[in-house]
Amino acid sequence: MSELHKFLFDGLPVRGMIVRLTDAWQEILARRASNTATGAYPPPVAELLGEMTAAATLMQSNIKFNGALILQIFGDGPVKVAVAEAKPDLSLRATAKVIGELPADAHLPDMVNVNNKGRCAITLDPKDKLPGATPYQGVVPLFGDGGEKLGKLSGVLQHYMLQSEQLDTTLVLAADDKVAAGLLIQRLPVKGEGNLEGTSGTSDKDHDQANEDQIGRNEDYNRISILASSLTRDELLTLDVETILRRLFWEEKLLRFEPQAGLQGPHFACTCGRERVAQMIRGLGAEEAESILAERGDIEVGCDFCGKQYRFDAIDAAQLFTPLGDQIPGSPVVQ
Ligand SMILES: [Zn+2]
Repeated sequence: MSELHKFLFDGLPVRGMIVRLTDAWQEILARRASNTATGAYPPPVAELLGEMTAAATLMQSNIKFNGALILQIFGDGPVKVAVAEAKPDLSLRATAKVIGELPADAHLPDMVNVNNKGRCAITLDPKDKLPGATPYQGVVPLFGDGGEKLGKLSGVLQHYMLQSEQLDTTLVLAADDKVAAGLLIQRLPVKGEGNLEGTSGTSDKDHDQANEDQIGRNEDYNRISILASSLTRDELLTLDVETILRRLFWEEKLLRFEPQAGLQGPHFACTCGRERVAQMIRGLGAEEAESILAERGDIEVGCDFCGKQYRFDAIDAAQLFTPLGDQIPGSPVVQ
């Protein structure tokens, strides 16, 4: 069962989280594998997407925000785009578009940053968005401060958290074909709950400055970060949460929260629907829709996240382009 565990280090300005996705992750992989148009993900892509899904879950749980957190990588290599989305109820979905071959031992730069143009975007899409409002989006290149290509997703996201949120963050991520898991350790900001939306609205300049002065300097955080970083991929994938926490932090005093699992825990869910597909077809325009119908007989659109197929025949399509008041039931004419 997929689970999320949150904890605090008693008396220290440090918090942590571990996510272990099992059934939720296997569901994402199984749906892709059963898609006859794409087939299963190549192992390095599955590993990247699993790490992204674990990271999106951790980042969603780390903020107080009523909406979807969407982690995207726009690649310039064989992986054109990879997306992982986590909602406040911990419903998750993920997909990737792969074109061409990639080596079996491909690393992050080989997949998405071949020509130095790959980038990572973190989007917060509010649930109750006002019409015309644009979601918050932060974009980071896949390079470190020294201009070196970053080899791991965890490095990219740590960089993002430090640059955009002024938060010291340590991430360990891993995934295989059964488990996608992540450990997040974060130094708490001087005032208030640090989050992706920033603190500009509520905190004054002095506190922001005090927080920035603390970056990289807090001894407790640095000690705990080093312990967290010693966690290996193999340990993260194979050990249960209790064992991981005991091994890493046996000398620290942890305050644990009730784990989130089962119905309250991370789970797969897709929010696609026929009306959204209809909107997309309207976006193509009547002429384009008509030419697809002429060629294929109907318009078929598959959801990249869950594999569900939506079919619009000539009658359905005609209704999409007919003003609501003028609809003639069963009219076969595309206008
Ligand atoms: Zn779907």
